[in-house]
Amino acid sequence: SEITADQIRQIVKDENVQFLRLMFTDVNGIIKNVEVPISQLEKVLNNKIAFDGSSIDGFVRIEESDMLLFPDLNTWLLFPWENDHGKVARLICSIHRPDGSPFAGDPRNNLIRILDQMKAAGYSAFNIGPEPEFFLFKLDEDGHPTLTLNDKGSYFDFAPLDLGENCRRDIVLELEKMGFEVEASHHEVAPGQHEIDFKYADALKAADQIQTFKLVVKTVARKHGLYATFMPKPLHGINGSGMHINMSLFNETGNVFFDENGEDQLSETAMHFLGGLLQHARGLTAINNPTVNSYKRLVPGFEAPVYVAWSGKNRSPLIRVPQSRGLSTRLELRSVDPTANPYLAIAAILEAGLNGIEHQVTPEEAVDRNIYRMQDDERKANHIQDLPSTLHNALKALANDEVVKGALGNHLYQSFMDSKDLEWAAYRQEVSDWEREQYLELY
Ligand code: ADP
Ligand code: GLU
Ligand code: MG
Ligand code: MG
Repeated sequence: SEITADQIRQIVKDENVQFLRLMFTDVNGIIKNVEVPISQLEKVLNNKIAFDGSSIDGFVRIEESDMLLFPDLNTWLLFPWENDHGKVARLICSIHRPDGSPFAGDPRNNLIRILDQMKAAGYSAFNIGPEPEFFLFKLDEDGHPTLTLNDKGSYFDFAPLDLGENCRRDIVLELEKMGFEVEASHHEVAPGQHEIDFKYADALKAADQIQTFKLVVKTVARKHGLYATFMPKPLHGINGSGMHINMSLFNETGNVFFDENGEDQLSETAMHFLGGLLQHARGLTAINNPTVNSYKRLVPGFEAPVYVAWSGKNRSPLIRVPQSRGLSTRLELRSVDPTANPYLAIAAILEAGLNGIEHQVTPEEAVDRNIYRMQDDERKANHIQDLPSTLHNALKALANDEVVKGALGNHLYQSFMDSKDLEWAAYRQEVSDWEREQYLELY
């Protein structure tokens, strides 16, 4: 580990740390935390902090509810913001059973399991560069989010249009204090919409960073009187928020997606991985786009993907192969949105790709034309499938995909399905304003 227990003890003393937040993520991608006073530090470092797992979505039945938190010391982080009660630090934890074995219902443990399979297949790292997008809305006098955007800016706009700029700069500064290497930050296409890209990291660290990122963005936005949301499509008629996932597979000698002599300098391994992603694209969708609202984003006309296809050139398809080669050779999966549980999404994506390598799946030809301009029969002739158009259809596709189910394992698959079936059932009984506007007077 990069940081030792002794170093943590020292920092706690030097910096007057008063509280420790022990964080983990539930099946729905929501960050949970147990906060303990610093007097509990030794217990924390000895994996002795217990909590009631039955109160967390998708965890365990009442009769086996005592779970243990095993902190990953590499995730040690001192929050840079001030607090009246002294400094607060956090550690991200894995959930273990009372006997010490890793709990299969913990998304983070599950990602570690899939990464172990990847290592057994001869690879050293799955590198992930996420591009999370979000909206900034104004808060009202009571501190509640409104639907008033904080600016009228657009892609790469400058102030004074881009009033989010100060807030975004603050976010970037806080992230850098917390060890993020921010590569770029800019206004996105929609008014009030922003993107901050940070440097790729190995899958586990990247998933941890995505969770931390969301926390920091929301915290800093509040200080600016703004509310940051990662909801995929908060407003009808303008772009939604995605979280494109850039990915590459490394072994001891480097990026195995790169091949100087390969067609377009892509290796056969890259093509098989791409083939696996395409083959399981429909089964992956529920994991990558897990909310009812996710499917309001996956519609034509807003730079979000709708069809299962790939391209080296245009940005409309599901998977893009950016032009950079060498170490930066990568695939960009554009369907993922920020409501995805990053641990589940990255595990499922990796499993689909590894399966493609194992079975030497060859992808269909790249589609370099605008798919949205094609007629239905033309798409059919080119073997271009649709992504699932609703959460319901996506859940059916997942239920039929043994590879993606395998990437979750039984426990997580069941708890994910249970949670999402409830969500869909609740949604489909709801009667919306749109329906009343359409039908109330017409019939
Ligand atoms: P876009 O072309 O979609 O705008 P960006 O340049 O905004 O892409 O984002 C690129 C992302 O890809 C960054 O997070 C970057 O760190 C990441 N990236 C670069 N090289 C790799 C790689 N080899 N593997 C995974 N991610 C990578
Ligand atoms: N906001 C778009 C989406 O929903 C992506 C825009 C971009 O290409 O960065 O995925
Ligand atoms: Mg973007
Ligand atoms: Mg992108």
